[in-house]
Amino acid sequence: MNQFGMTIDGQTVQGEMPSCIVLNPANEQEAFTAPVASIAQLNKAVESAKAAYPQWSALSQVQRDGYINKIADVIEQNASELAEIIVKEQGKPMQLAQMEVGGAVAWTRHTASIEVPVEVYEDSENKRIEGRRKSIGVVGSITPWNWPLMIAIWHIIPALRMGNTVVLKPSELTPINTLKLGQLLQDVLPAGVLNVVSGSGDVGRAMSEHKDINKLVFTGSTQTGQNIMQAAATNLKRLTLELGGNDAGIVLPGANLDAIAEGLFATAFINMGQTCAALKRLYVHESQHDELCQKLADIAEKQVVGEGSADGVTFGPVQNSQQLEKVIALVEEAKQQGATIYAGGVRPDKPGYFFPPTIVGNAQSGMRVVEEEQFGPVLPVIKYTTVADAVAAANSVEVGLGGSVWGDVEQASELASKLECGSVWINGHAEVLPHAPFGGCKMSGFGVEFGLEGLLENSLLQVVNINK
Ligand code: NDP
Repeated sequence: MNQFGMTIDGQTVQGEMPSCIVLNPANEQEAFTAPVASIAQLNKAVESAKAAYPQWSALSQVQRDGYINKIADVIEQNASELAEIIVKEQGKPMQLAQMEVGGAVAWTRHTASIEVPVEVYEDSENKRIEGRRKSIGVVGSITPWNWPLMIAIWHIIPALRMGNTVVLKPSELTPINTLKLGQLLQDVLPAGVLNVVSGSGDVGRAMSEHKDINKLVFTGSTQTGQNIMQAAATNLKRLTLELGGNDAGIVLPGANLDAIAEGLFATAFINMGQTCAALKRLYVHESQHDELCQKLADIAEKQVVGEGSADGVTFGPVQNSQQLEKVIALVEEAKQQGATIYAGGVRPDKPGYFFPPTIVGNAQSGMRVVEEEQFGPVLPVIKYTTVADAVAAANSVEVGLGGSVWGDVEQASELASKLECGSVWINGHAEVLPHAPFGGCKMSGFGVEFGLEGLLENSLLQVVNINK
């Protein structure tokens, strides 16, 4: 029997399919086993969410906020255990896992505090027209393995707050913290309001085709997002698709490198680079390229790479072998094509999916490490001659999640509108906040999360036209 079960209709349930093994990426050993749902169990979870919907959606906002704040309390009370699970199955250093749990609490509380206004389109002597927000129904959520708890909260809390009920499916690579969350919330939420099913292979697809799921939120790859969009046509599901990116940062000529090097490193290598909005390509004026690469390399060499729960470790493993293989292949190809490895670049000879923070200088357009999302601990640095060239190169990829400009604030702000992406940071990158909407354009998906706009994506607009 698995240590953690799924949550269906308020009960802990084991999977009807053979369990799957969850590895600890720091030693490649089994850390947990996880239940795998059958499609019949997924259907039960959706039925339960559908049955719970009328009562949950009829609650007042104040009543639902009471529940949501209790969710935050419960996460806070179980913070240590949740962080330990995250380190074991995801690999990140303990401090970062604690930050993830703290972020989940902060996001939950903030989302409960956002006012949802009634819009008034006309209020004249004889007529009043209002835009009111209604819940949608059953929301499906499919979450990834990089920030498993945080992203689950990003998906489910706005959905619950707006009166929807939820079926949540974590990645089969990191399901345990989410299963634990589901079990903890059995004592908080009415049965059926939040169901958690784990599985691999066909549960996600069955969710995207399910006629009783009215909206789906997905964070993951563009290819899977496209598959979901096709399947969602069965019942015209609403979608929020957050499909990652290949974010460019542009360092303006003459920028103070000492002032920005730490920030560049931190935002490129956040969570070992496994973050959708991490800085993934860095464009630097040719006069400053070598100096900046060296400064980044000096910071990289100071990282302590190791198992996330060990004292002093600042840099954990890549989460899974497939991602590690991709990172290694991109670095090897870049080396062969003439790039300069300023730091890292070699997998340590020990168990675990470790790869040190790697600075690839003299990278060029056309190299896969530049053109593709590496989603791992590698930063390609590319020389440019004119700022216009850098902007064109930044915009040359198919995706458009985030981008950044580093240097003089006024010049950088002017450049922001030229970048084809959903968020632009000036002298920063990868900073997402519960009160600022976040989402991508182009092949990075559509829809936003966070802030009022993120909340409204979990609702339907109903226009009420009153003839007085
Ligand atoms: P995927 O993007 O393929 O997502 C896997 C999840 O999607 C699983 O839960 C899976 O469920 C579900 N799924 C698969 N096919 C479908 C479908 N047709 N309809 C609905 N759900 C489906 O992730 P991977 O883990 O394979 O990662 C691939 C790449 O995605 C990474 O290399 C990275 O570049 C990127 N990525 C981006 C993230 C981001 O934050 N934007 C996060 C993680 C990865 P089931 O197992 O049941 O099929």
